[in-house]
Amino acid sequence: MKVDEEQFIGKFISCYLGHSEDKYIRWMASSGGVVTSILMFMLKEKMMDGALVVKMEGLEPKLIIARDPKDLIESMGSKYLSVSFSTKFRDLLKSEGKYAIVGLPCHIRLIRRVMAKNKGLHKRIILLLGLFCCRVISPLGFKVLLHKLNVREHEVKEFKFRGCGWPGKLYINLKNGREISLPFFSYWRPLYSTYFFTPKSCMFCSDMMNEEADISFGDAWLPKVMKRDRLGSSILVSRTSRAEKILEEAQKKGFIKLTKIEGKEVIKAQWRPIFFKKIMLPIRLMLARRERHNIKLGSIKLFFGLVCALIQIANMRFSESLIGARIIEKLPLKLLLFYATFQAALEYFSWRLITG
Ligand SMILES: Cc1cc2nc3c(=O)[nH]c(=O)nc-3n(C[C@H](O)[C@H](O)[C@H](O)COP(=O)(O)OP(=O)(O)OC[C@H]3O[C@@H](n4cnc5c(N)ncnc54)[C@H](O)[C@@H]3O)c2cc1C
Ligand code: SF4
Repeated sequence: MKVDEEQFIGKFISCYLGHSEDKYIRWMASSGGVVTSILMFMLKEKMMDGALVVKMEGLEPKLIIARDPKDLIESMGSKYLSVSFSTKFRDLLKSEGKYAIVGLPCHIRLIRRVMAKNKGLHKRIILLLGLFCCRVISPLGFKVLLHKLNVREHEVKEFKFRGCGWPGKLYINLKNGREISLPFFSYWRPLYSTYFFTPKSCMFCSDMMNEEADISFGDAWLPKVMKRDRLGSSILVSRTSRAEKILEEAQKKGFIKLTKIEGKEVIKAQWRPIFFKKIMLPIRLMLARRERHNIKLGSIKLFFGLVCALIQIANMRFSESLIGARIIEKLPLKLLLFYATFQAALEYFSWRLITG
């Protein structure tokens, strides 16, 4: 299979490696803090009246319309949970002014549909900032994480999936004053990188890089960056001329720092979610519908594809049964990590075999 950049990334103008020039934002955000810094820039330059973002309230991700820098700081960081957009989006449509919206690919897709029906909205929704997204964690998967850490839901005052450098740390502040902190990968890899606790809708979603956003953002999982960077770096994919203009201005005014990179580096950094969504999806669909779904792979490639897809589906199904979730909860993280490493190695081998 020949690697076609646009097939994996979507239509784009430029790709960048970047980070916030504000040290606090870069440190406390998920990757490079660029989403928050671009919103800060737009707010301070009075280009918009606010932005639709997500803030954690205890264990609940809540949509808010951030109208000042404090709101933006409080909503920094990724919430790997499902958030419903409809009510707050309706509120935003009712209020006067210009707004930016941050969202996952399924959110941005919905907003583009609404904008297509209502042309006047293009003047009011001035920028769509899209996060890369491989999946969210199911509510059961979130519970298992808390139980593994011996935390009960009602004890939690504050919860953060990431922050404090890069790749960052999970942070929990309990009502009794106890604090829990552990490295992002130490829980993410064993519990979620195997597609345990992935909702069905995410198993059948094909948009990884937020292809309908003006700018898409993800982690810069490039070996050369990961070796030296402990503060945080993001990958940005700019897709519209408006996005290019805003990025240029934000950099000029000292909010962000950007370096151009090639599409193939974006693919290198994001090979695993691309493999999951762009290569494995047709195979998962074929298995679900029991029909050959326009898959043009030779027999060896198809064999490895089928093995990977079957493992992904089996892991998702197993973890969503109460017995499966209980078993995962009881297994030591080290054993789960061993399994996750085996699966990642098999997927990497298959990715290289299929994409050449
Ligand atoms: C569910 C999910 C899955 C992701 N999957 C991947 C992936 O597979 N690969 C990858 O490289 N990156 C992924 N990301 C993106 C990555 O985690 C960072 O969000 C991205 O790199 C931007 O980092 P930043 O430091 O610039 O953002 P920050 O400056 O920290 O700002 C993040 C912004 O995103 C908003 N936000 C957070 N969670 C949500 C949410 N659930 N829905 C809508 N808005 C939200 C916040 O309100 C904030 O405005 C995912 C993010 C999420 C939320
Ligand atoms: S994987 Fe797709 S459906 Fe699932 S949260 Fe991400 S964008 Fe939405």
